[in-house]
Amino acid sequence: MSPAGQEHVREERPGAVPKAPLRRSSFLFRLTRLLGFSEHRCPVCGTPVEDDGAGGSGPEAGMLAHGLCPACARALGPYVGGRCRACGLPLPWPAAGQPLLCGDCLASPPPWQGLALYGQYHGPLRQLILRFKHGGKPALAFLLAGMLADAASCLPLPDAVLGIPQHEDHLRRRGYNQAHELAVALGLLLSLPVRPGLLRRPADSPHQTGLTAAQRQRNAAGSFQAADVRGLHLWLVDDIITTGSTLRAACAELRRAGAARVDVLALARTPRP
Ligand SMILES: [Zn+2]
Ligand SMILES: [Zn+2]
Repeated sequence: MSPAGQEHVREERPGAVPKAPLRRSSFLFRLTRLLGFSEHRCPVCGTPVEDDGAGGSGPEAGMLAHGLCPACARALGPYVGGRCRACGLPLPWPAAGQPLLCGDCLASPPPWQGLALYGQYHGPLRQLILRFKHGGKPALAFLLAGMLADAASCLPLPDAVLGIPQHEDHLRRRGYNQAHELAVALGLLLSLPVRPGLLRRPADSPHQTGLTAAQRQRNAAGSFQAADVRGLHLWLVDDIITTGSTLRAACAELRRAGAARVDVLALARTPRP
């Protein structure tokens, strides 16, 4: 990972004391070696990979450690441009001394304390997320969770991790909740408790596609029910941040139910709709 982690959005409120840095993961690579396979193949394109990436450099070095081939590692390197420190929206770099916050977050700060975001939702990262989400490839969860763990390496470790819950009818259609699968893989990688039961989504709300940000916010508000989470520090995982309204609603409910701190982890942020 280079240079010194400035690729990721790793925001903390002043006064937050980081715990031990998260250990790096190269789960797929280690697993195939452990099982004695003579040949490791890139989990994205299937090309045989000889090197474990130990000698890699540049933004893609972390991805080589995940067992990707050099071409996919380059294509899937973390986002290095400017973006809103609260919601991850891509922004032009500000003049020195100016806060890197978008207009929405300046007007209405999100209810989470920390954000870990890997990249922008386009190109190979988008393809990979779509394969994971719609292509019935839950095994990709470990590769993607490794990317989340890298992005979150400067956040303090939480008491528990959970994915944004889905409505039951969505779950029946798709077969699995991609946010939950990511949370489970992340929990395994970092030895964190996974507690999906802390947040429920009992009532269905109209589908979000085609709605304005304000309409999404209204739909999402009130659609979550948190258990007693008093005093807990939680990591809330989603695959993509679109407007952030669902995450805002879920996080606000967890804070209302007493969570001491909620950090949001996501793989990618879409551009402003
Ligand atoms: Zn590849
Ligand atoms: Zn923002």
